[in-house]
Amino acid sequence: MTKEEKLKSLNQLKKEMSADKNLPLRRGATNLVFGEGDCDAKIFCLGEGPGYWEDQKGRPFVGNAGSLLNQLLQSIKVPREKVWITNVVCYRPPENRDPEPSEIAAFQPYIDRMIEIIKPKIVVTLGRFSMAKFIPNSKITAIHGKAHVVNWKESMILIVPMYHPAAALRRGEIMSQIKEDFQKLPDILREADKPDIKQMELV
Ligand code: URA
Repeated sequence: MTKEEKLKSLNQLKKEMSADKNLPLRRGATNLVFGEGDCDAKIFCLGEGPGYWEDQKGRPFVGNAGSLLNQLLQSIKVPREKVWITNVVCYRPPENRDPEPSEIAAFQPYIDRMIEIIKPKIVVTLGRFSMAKFIPNSKITAIHGKAHVVNWKESMILIVPMYHPAAALRRGEIMSQIKEDFQKLPDILREADKPDIKQMELV
């Protein structure tokens, strides 16, 4: 797909999501937080769900967790504008509670289409909910910062689970870990560029 075709498909997808009255969490939300960034992004960041500021502004990761995400990306010389950022649910859960499995499932076809359109090299999952979409039954404490080749919709995709930036803001040891994990992304990206990622050495 050319960049123009991708933009058109993403606009179409956003229109469909906005019009979908069956999507959960819609009633209590101010705005749909569709996602934003470069439609040709190599890195697709997948968070948990919009918080207060994201709901107000209709943009993902614009509060404190977003500032940290921006800094983490800057630390590997990747401007935020060069990645794609969205969440497993695109309306704010009330009181910032965890998204429920049925809510995540309702948004899943839309998120899957987003990934299909953008075709990133790697998906960086932020927190356990987005990790579980690709790597169920794993503990984030065991697999954070490691690249996982996952068979997704009949093609191979690289998933890199990271702690959630909001958890890093709460706990110093998670902050050190997430900073360390982000430093691994450039090497993982280089590996992902190899023609057959099935052959890649896991970092
Ligand atoms: N936390 C998330 O998971 N997503 C956002 O968009 C903001 C904070």
